[in-house]
Parts: sequence; structure tokens; C-alpha cells
Amino acid sequence: MERTFAMIKPDGVRRGLTADILARIQRKGYRLVGLKQMVISRETAENHYAEHKERPFFGELVEFITGGPVVAMALEGENAILGWRGMMGATNPANAAPGSIRADFATTTGENVTHGSDSAESAERELGLFFKAEELL
Ligand code: ATP
Ligand code: MG
Repeated sequence: MERTFAMIKPDGVRRGLTADILARIQRKGYRLVGLKQMVISRETAENHYAEHKERPFFGELVEFITGGPVVAMALEGENAILGWRGMMGATNPANAAPGSIRADFATTTGENVTHGSDSAESAERELGLFFKAEELL
């Protein structure tokens, strides 16, 4: 079974979308192997988004992602990495497929409600960054 790292970003938590997003994940059939609400430290945020370090929006992105509680999740299921990316929809909500989370709940790329690992390597790295082994049940 494949595992992926998923997150409800601060905009999603602030707007009260947690229950709706968790319901979608459970209806889909992914198992919640890990689940916690937390505030991300600057260090963890810079590490998590290290691939975007040189991008013009990096500072804004770190401010945003550390600006309030997030819900960090480890999801397990058949093809969970691509499957969860599909449930989220495209990075820019304007391009997100109808019925996807970003299409239904977001209007801007900067605040697009959820995160999902984009590869097996990212999933392993991000799960290790956010969860201790004993937190994955
Ligand atoms: P995520 O990594 O958050 O799941 P993603 O993989 O769809 O999203 P990435 O290209 O990894 O998209 O970008 C990471 C995040 O950086 C985006 O989700 C978005 O919040 C922010 N971001 C990306 N591009 C831009 C942009 N042009 N302007 C502002 N923010 C951006
Ligand atoms: Mg990404």
C-alpha cells in the first residue's frame, strides 16, 4: 500500500474546511495513518518547500504556511500519491478539475487549501519531516 503526505493548509483550517476535507478522504477510502493539527515552524516550512527556495513567492509561501494551524496527515491506499493529487486538483484553482478540492474551495494559487506529495520520493521525505515513526498507526 502506498503512503502519501497530505496537509490542510492554514486557509483551509481557518475557514472551517477540515471536517469536509477529512470526509472526502474517508469516503474515497484512504486510511488516515497519521493525523495531527499543528503550527509549522519556520525551519520545517523552509525545509518542506526547499525546492521553491529561489522562487519569487518563497517568502510569502513560508509566511502563509506558518501563519496558523495546519492539519498534517499520512494517507494510505492504492495509488494514494497520485490519487490525492487528483482529489486536490491543479495548483491554480482556476485550472482545477470540477469537483476537486481546489476547484470547490479555492480561488488563488497562493491559498489553495491543501498540499499533497508529488512523488514517492517527496512522500517519504515529507512524511519523515512531519511525523515520527510512532505517530503512524
Ligand atoms: P503543494 O506543494 O502545496 O501541494 P503543488 O505541488 O500543486 O502544491 P507547487 O508547485 O509545489 O504546487 O507549489 C507549492 C505551493 O506554492 C503551491 O501550492 C502554492 O501555494 C504556492 N505557489 C506555487 N506557485 C505559486 C505562484 N506562482 N504564486 C504564489 N504561490 C505559488
Ligand atoms: Mg508541490
